[in-house]
Amino acid sequence: MSQARKIVILPGDGIGPEIIAQATKVLLAANDQFNLGLATQSCAFGGSAYDETGNPLPDSTLAACRDADAILAGAIGGPQYDAAPRELRPERGLLRLRAELKLFANLRPALLYPELADASSLKPELVAGLNLMILRELTGGIYFGQPRGIEQRDGERVGFNTMVYNESEIRRIALRAFEISRQRDSRLCSVDKANVLEVSELWREIVEDVAKDYPDVELTHMYVDNAAMQLVRAPKQFDVIVTSNLFGDVLSDAAAMLTGSIGMLPSASLDESGKGLYEPIHGSAPDIAGQGIANPLATILSVSMMLRYTLHEAKAADAIEQAVSAVLATGHRCRDIATGVANEQLVNTQEMGEAVLVALAAGASA
Ligand code: NAD
Repeated sequence: MSQARKIVILPGDGIGPEIIAQATKVLLAANDQFNLGLATQSCAFGGSAYDETGNPLPDSTLAACRDADAILAGAIGGPQYDAAPRELRPERGLLRLRAELKLFANLRPALLYPELADASSLKPELVAGLNLMILRELTGGIYFGQPRGIEQRDGERVGFNTMVYNESEIRRIALRAFEISRQRDSRLCSVDKANVLEVSELWREIVEDVAKDYPDVELTHMYVDNAAMQLVRAPKQFDVIVTSNLFGDVLSDAAAMLTGSIGMLPSASLDESGKGLYEPIHGSAPDIAGQGIANPLATILSVSMMLRYTLHEAKAADAIEQAVSAVLATGHRCRDIATGVANEQLVNTQEMGEAVLVALAAGASA
């Protein structure tokens, strides 16, 4: 028998362990149903790891993550860690993990199930069925560029940062964007500010060059200010958006909020080989932790992204997404996505997980 593929699970803090428990059940069910050959291992991470070991990213956790094929994380953080030394705060553990594993490509889908269209701040007809993917460069650009700092110049303080990309950084994120576009609707929009910034001029030139190898993908370019406008005017025009670290940070949050449901959105951060860290976009939600009411669907959908983008198990990924769709169609709602429609059935974290398991099994026997 071939060696099992290793999945490291990082429950984390707050609602992290609650949502991870449900997502793990779904992962294990898919493992059985589709014969995926996965072996899971849970490791300490975040504030709970800091409490146990004095380090939010213990060496043993980092080693397990390095050795893993993919990582599934819940969420980390909480007000009790605000007083911890900056370098030992839970968020630092996450940033370090991303940096150590060189996870340069951040995938943030904004998808809105038709059943949840009323949860958006936009008119339902503008967003119902929205399914766009934002690919953000995560380890370069102005967040890391040198020089940076605050210094005294001519009698006053000056703050400065540097937006910088080299060709290889642009090429690798562009390559990833074209590959992802191919797995979707083959429409890619590269967002930049090439009318003002030289770094964007180079970005556009390299994206054009990579496009030559993907004649089947329709490439367009858009300035970031227009992209922000188009996202709230007519978001369904987009399939995949690729952009730099800063622009992606802003646009992906705006796109996520179009869907109005933070408890529904998964994310992935990938390295050059396609290995990835998968996690919901939300945090540890200390305000509802321990109550068993958190929505586990963002984490369950993170499992399906993991199956699709790292493990190349599209059938299993589709089956999980269809199970989530079915559960929403039958009216199951956690509190954060309840909209008051007639057939709604308010469920807790565990009941939502169980409903997805039932729908997954029903899909298999259909
Ligand atoms: P948050 O995302 O944790 O919560 C924002 C709001 O959304 C809260 O009202 C919360 O109850 C709700 N919410 C979030 N996830 C939900 C879910 N699955 N189901 C139902 N409701 C949900 O953001 P915050 O309150 O700003 O941050 C709380 C902590 O999380 C902080 O310590 C922050 O640093 C950390 N954080 C961690 C990550 C991560 O682990 N990647 C990301 C963001 C924030």
